[in-house]
Amino acid sequence: MSFLTRQTKLPVNCFRYVANSSARCLSTSKACSVKSVVQLPNVPDIKLYNEPVLDYRKGSTERTQLEKKLKETASTCEDIPIVIGNEEFRTNQVRCQVMPHDHSKNIAAFYYADQSLIQKAINVSVEAQKKWDRVPFDERVKIWNRAADLMAGEYRQTLNAATMLGQSKTAIQAEIDSAAELIDFIRMNTAYLKDNLKYQPISENPSVTKNLLRYRGIDGFIAAVSPFNFTAIGGNLAYTPALMGNSVLWKPSDTAILSNWTIFKIMREAGVPPGVVNFVPADGPVFGDTITASPYLAGINFTGSVPTFARLWRQVGENITNYVNFPRLIGECGGKNYHFVHPTADVDTVATATIRSAFEYCGQKCSACSRAYIPESLWPAIKPKLLELRDSLKIGDVTDFSSFTSAVIDDKAFARIKSYIDHANNSSNLEVIGGGSYNDSKGYFIQPTIVQTKDPHDKIMVEEIFGPVLTIYVYKDKDVKQALELVGSSTKFALTGAVFAQDQSFLKEAAEELKMTAGNFYINDKSTGSVVGQQPFGGGRHSGTNDKAGGPHYCLRWASPQSIKETFVPLRDVTYPYMSE
Ligand code: NAD
Repeated sequence: MSFLTRQTKLPVNCFRYVANSSARCLSTSKACSVKSVVQLPNVPDIKLYNEPVLDYRKGSTERTQLEKKLKETASTCEDIPIVIGNEEFRTNQVRCQVMPHDHSKNIAAFYYADQSLIQKAINVSVEAQKKWDRVPFDERVKIWNRAADLMAGEYRQTLNAATMLGQSKTAIQAEIDSAAELIDFIRMNTAYLKDNLKYQPISENPSVTKNLLRYRGIDGFIAAVSPFNFTAIGGNLAYTPALMGNSVLWKPSDTAILSNWTIFKIMREAGVPPGVVNFVPADGPVFGDTITASPYLAGINFTGSVPTFARLWRQVGENITNYVNFPRLIGECGGKNYHFVHPTADVDTVATATIRSAFEYCGQKCSACSRAYIPESLWPAIKPKLLELRDSLKIGDVTDFSSFTSAVIDDKAFARIKSYIDHANNSSNLEVIGGGSYNDSKGYFIQPTIVQTKDPHDKIMVEEIFGPVLTIYVYKDKDVKQALELVGSSTKFALTGAVFAQDQSFLKEAAEELKMTAGNFYINDKSTGSVVGQQPFGGGRHSGTNDKAGGPHYCLRWASPQSIKETFVPLRDVTYPYMSE
């Protein structure tokens, strides 16, 4: 801001200078009669609360409803089209989604959009954005809240059944994802939006000059590219940019297609107009290559692995001068999440938290504990508890409510995870102390596996496995500082981490020493289980851009704010008073 455009102090009863104008001492009543051209949205206050998680006990209403929906979903193979605007498309590139725990069964057939259909979706989105951005915020908020109510009520078990059967989640893992987290994202982002709208710039004398800040979408389109492992993430990646006035090409993951399609249908039923979100399943690289080549790419909202995000970023870099906007790049990526145990830690808590974090949903949560540092003094107490708990886990079909976990997502994941177990069996530094077996004859089943390593830098302690493999490094108690240092120095990831101790001064030290090693840091709690609005989520370093989905700042990443200064007095004099003194 230049000196000349700043308002300067003037005598009482005299209006201040207004941006390069010489308007002075006009009557207030005259100026006040002028109304601002731009009106701010009037969104009612929205209560912030988390959707309650249902418990699915035998005989409960929700259990009965879910079992019914599971039967229905398992007995059909849904035909899922590409949707662009209000048109459906089916190409000859047909793919099937199978149940990972019973891969002979298809639950959905879908179609890959080719380059020309992706281009069509871009054209439709760019046009739709211009109209959608003019729809008042309060109307958008009504649609989102209607959708959240449909998800919480009528379609809750449809979403859960699709997630359980398509992504092999148990009832509770589906409930916390495709019900609670999804509903929280849809509902809470409207409340955050409302909060963000409260900020307005200073207008020192609004009858002379009014300053406004309004939020626009970004002209162009946003590409939302979602992973398989959380249904809710797909909903958030596509619909938070849409809430903010953007249009979206949503490329769901092949292995989460049914649950993601269910979200798309619900949002449409709630009132999201055609073209605002386009449902575009496609081969990953074909999609990535086409969207990054378009000048209208306004942003990529990505969650998935580091190599995919790095490739997209590189492509955007190569095309950077061709775009209308500098595209926003949000990428929430992988992790090598840790549990660090101090000699003063509570043994039972460590064992229980580590088993849950490492093995719930087969370690396929981006926050799952994959490496643990345990002091020599506690190892004799912790080891048998870990092994006993591991042995007690039932791994099976998700429709059997006594299963703790089920199969991993697909054949590629099975091969990758198996290769780490084989590596452990073949290395003299590593010993498989629990589990280690696998079988993909019916479903992609891998037993929860615990490995002990002598080498804290072995690849099993460094690389993301994204499966039910936990590796433990036992350190000497006297070397606790060196062990703490290993956490941050041995991998590029910094997603989640947990420290377990009773010693308060150690906890304080660890919170500082480990500050950069995790975007979500836990003290005496497991590294998984973040809740929208409670622990906004995202990691630093190579784990992502850390934009904290589920927090108040996230929706602003998808807004292009505009500052407006409106002056109600005429500009008539180029000189300043002191010049004629
Ligand atoms: P992935 O990278 O294989 O796929 C993610 C998405 O990208 C899929 O839709 C895929 O089809 C698509 N894709 C693949 N190649 C592409 C390309 N060249 N251009 C455009 N899109 C492309 O990841 P995944 O296996 O689905 O998910 C698991 C990964 O996601 C893990 O690394 C996990 O840690 C991470 N993850 C991170 C978070 C987080 O919040 N940090 C949350 C969930 C998952």
